Amino acid sequence: MFEDTHDEHVLLTPGPTPIHPRAQRALTRPMLGHMDPEVFALNSEIQRDLREMYGADEGTLTALLAGTGSLGMEAGFANLVEAGDEVLVCANGSFGRRMAEMAARYGAKVRLVTAPLGEAIDPADVAAQLDDSVSMVAVVHGETSTGVLNPVPEIAKLVRGTGALLTVDAVTTAGMEPFDMAKWGVDYAYTGAQKCLSAPPGLAPVAISERAFSRFRARRTPPPLWYCDFGGLRDYWVDHSYHHTVPVNLHFALHAALRAALDEGLDTRQARVRLMGRVIERTLAPLGFSPYVRRPQDRLPTVLALRLPEGLDDAGVRGALRQRGISVTGGLGPTAGVIWRLGLMGESARPEPYRRLMTELAGLLG
Ligand code: PLP
Repeated sequence: MFEDTHDEHVLLTPGPTPIHPRAQRALTRPMLGHMDPEVFALNSEIQRDLREMYGADEGTLTALLAGTGSLGMEAGFANLVEAGDEVLVCANGSFGRRMAEMAARYGAKVRLVTAPLGEAIDPADVAAQLDDSVSMVAVVHGETSTGVLNPVPEIAKLVRGTGALLTVDAVTTAGMEPFDMAKWGVDYAYTGAQKCLSAPPGLAPVAISERAFSRFRARRTPPPLWYCDFGGLRDYWVDHSYHHTVPVNLHFALHAALRAALDEGLDTRQARVRLMGRVIERTLAPLGFSPYVRRPQDRLPTVLALRLPEGLDDAGVRGALRQRGISVTGGLGPTAGVIWRLGLMGESARPEPYRRLMTELAGLLG
């Protein structure tokens, strides 16, 4: 039976994150039509703020897709890949593999660059497979399944100067980690509203560079996915003509959450997540938890992957925490039963919810 106990709930998962209070309030605003001038004014502010969040230049088209992060991923392949294109996908975890599967479904010939579980992609392995026939390189910045940060700036340096586009999954990084689309030379980036921005799930903020848009325009065939056609997206977000009904109430909430993030300051947020991570690691070490990712520079600050203490009953302890109103996520696939993945995105990276976790854990394991 559904019990409404969520006022007290502590959400420490790697997404969704607790909704920012300003976004929560914005959700109660009365509905407006998707073609209303006030909504277009709101959308323009969202576009401007997304450019700032992504470090994108003026020529970059920013917009929201009506779906989660996976739709952001899918839209990139649907619009920027044609059958037979060579796509090099960095796949060192579940989300990299999801990229490879999507690229293949849109007809790409996929080349994989892999790394052992819990390790970052080595740019030298990208260089070894990058040649003139590659039309796109795709990489997950923060691999949520293992808590690994991939070296996007170094990979971008290799891709710059080739004819290939660079697609970056910024789902666990944009808004909380350094992300410099223009400086690095990223062509397509996406995230999910429910991650670092602490807005409700259901929107994928995307950024499409001028180079990516030109590639889209030069397609031989229309994109097989009508709903997220970049041309249709531009029609609505730039020319203000109807393409489909956007979820205006979610736009209100995302606008508020994004403003709150920029008001706090991207640098402050990056410092906040690092400080929280260090404190949590130090506090959990005496209980037997240790960093899962071996090299400190490969650790993703927004998803703390911790190896479980010897003999800990993973499902049992997480179940007991859940009964006490605290959600913690375990590993995924091969890391199930091996690690916990503590979310430090957006509003999860706050001392109070983690204090509650520490208190309850000390009681359960002490
Ligand atoms: N990419 C990464 C790195 C993710 O962590 C996730 C979700 O956790 C996704 C893509 C997919 O996002 P969604 O679940 O919002 O569709």
